[in-house]
Amino acid sequence: MIKEFINIHKIFTRLKSKVSFTSKQRDQYGYVLDDLGDGIVVIDEDGNITFENEQFSQILNLEKVSGRNITELGIHSLDYLFRRAKKEKSDDIEFEIELSDKTTRWVLGTMNQSKNTKEYILVLHDITQLRSFSSMRRDFISNLSHELRTPVSVIRANSETLIDSALDDKKQAKVFAKAILHNAERLTDMVSSLLDLSRIEYGELKLNFQEIDLNKFFENFIGSISNLSKKKNINILYKPNHEGLIKGDLQAIERIMNNLIDNAIKYSDEGSDIEIFTENDEKYIKVMVADSGSGISEEDQDHIFSRFYRTASARATDNQGSGLGLAIVKHLVNNLNGDVGIDSKEKTGSIFWFSLPKTQ
Ligand code: ADP
Repeated sequence: MIKEFINIHKIFTRLKSKVSFTSKQRDQYGYVLDDLGDGIVVIDEDGNITFENEQFSQILNLEKVSGRNITELGIHSLDYLFRRAKKEKSDDIEFEIELSDKTTRWVLGTMNQSKNTKEYILVLHDITQLRSFSSMRRDFISNLSHELRTPVSVIRANSETLIDSALDDKKQAKVFAKAILHNAERLTDMVSSLLDLSRIEYGELKLNFQEIDLNKFFENFIGSISNLSKKKNINILYKPNHEGLIKGDLQAIERIMNNLIDNAIKYSDEGSDIEIFTENDEKYIKVMVADSGSGISEEDQDHIFSRFYRTASARATDNQGSGLGLAIVKHLVNNLNGDVGIDSKEKTGSIFWFSLPKTQ
């Protein structure tokens, strides 16, 4: 009797340790599934959800779904996916979820039927970023085609007129030839800006980091652009208020400033002032370029550093720009480990700024 009791006790202890091992293993799988990043649920043949990981309800922006039926979640794409998976054993679907802040999340749902248990396993993957990359590529190509089409059409129309009639009239021929030259130059500028932008973006631009004294830099810089500012009788004033040196690439900083000053002159009235201010905190020196020109509306400010973006008034009044200058500025500043931005009110001018790390 005692022997039997000891045997039963041994079996009990072994069972207990097996149960605890299995439950530990189940917990571990649970943690792995929770940390996976993808949403996972298991659904029985009637559509009842028998298991969910944490991500599942997060991706769908829902409260807990365990114990509910997949058809009751109010997501038609998942009802449809379940019907398809019941027929085909496996299927997938892409759908969108509107989030509380009115933004959209794109989700890829894949459902498979398990061969052993006949249950369905649904995996959700957030593909919003992927979608936005592919839509950025589409936008880029359509913007590029749009921007290239204008000068190409002008070149074509002027060449046709020259060939058809204007060649005999020297004065007329010169006007058309000039328009062709101007638009060919625009195309060259645009293509070289695009090449530069892609070089900067993909880190192919070699930067030569060195200590830079901004006071010395601006002394040379303002001298070098005086021809440009004189044309509009614009005064460029340097008002430094910083201490320390910048760690950056001289050519890149010159390029950033060229773009900002070029714009400030272009969008300012004749005879006005452009001021360059500086300030610093512990880690960064900030450079601000302030003009009293047309300014930029709040809505435009959100897009101003994007490729090809130009305000409606700039499109209407200036046929030189391409909307690539500020995109180049942003990428250059970021490559120099700095930050860039704008403070502007329409009609009272703009302050473009960038900040770069100080030498320690
Ligand atoms: P663009 O070649 O057209 O000047 P940018 O990328 O340099 O291209 O500038 C994009 C747009 O930002 C311009 O078309 C213009 O609408 C606006 N912008 C830039 N700088 C200024 C400024 N200082 N004042 C007013 N608008 C500006």
